[in-house]
Amino acid sequence: MLVDLHVHTVVSSPCSHIDPRQLIHAARRLGLDAVCGTEHEEMEGAQVAWELGRELGFPVLRGVEVYTDCGDMLVFGLEIPSFPLQVPFEELHRWVREADGLIIPAHPCRSDRGFHDRLGPERAEFLLARVDALEVKNGGNTEEANLRAEAVALEYGIPGVGGSDAHFLMQLGRCLTVFENDIESEEDLVREVKAGRCRAAYAHEVEGIELSRLWR
Ligand SMILES: [Zn+2]
Ligand SMILES: [Zn+2]
Repeated sequence: MLVDLHVHTVVSSPCSHIDPRQLIHAARRLGLDAVCGTEHEEMEGAQVAWELGRELGFPVLRGVEVYTDCGDMLVFGLEIPSFPLQVPFEELHRWVREADGLIIPAHPCRSDRGFHDRLGPERAEFLLARVDALEVKNGGNTEEANLRAEAVALEYGIPGVGGSDAHFLMQLGRCLTVFENDIESEEDLVREVKAGRCRAAYAHEVEGIELSRLWR
């Protein structure tokens, strides 16, 4: 099961150029089995894509990317329509725990600095003890930044996930998450990530995905 865990659409992310209907057609053409809507601070875009997905018979999972004092967090399983800017991590974590959802630092090592260096050792340890996974392959990152994140996930025994962070259709599927089991709903996603039955991959590392299909 191949899922792009991190995509922005025009509906809620002004920085994105992806129309939700085109997103679903492109995801299918590419060979993805599902795609996640993760807008900045807003759930509406994911909801619109989810409804279209139902209409077109393609699974869309609803998430959100929330900016916190510890950087961007991908969140799933939380039914809050919009988030204030720079939510304290503790607060977001509490909401996610109460809802039994997922909290995953997005592109945790995007800057030149490592995870511990950026947050400070104490804060970094605090986070690593509380997150459900790390986004270890992000399509907008350099390979080095992804490798730094991967090393942290490995050292701490935290599951690694991947997503394109696409803002343009051409970026879809560059990075993705390979799941051992079928994912048809957010509940499936939460359960499988928590159980660690997933791994991050680049498009070229998995069979069945061909990025060139996007511009044919
Ligand atoms: Zn981000
Ligand atoms: Zn993003």
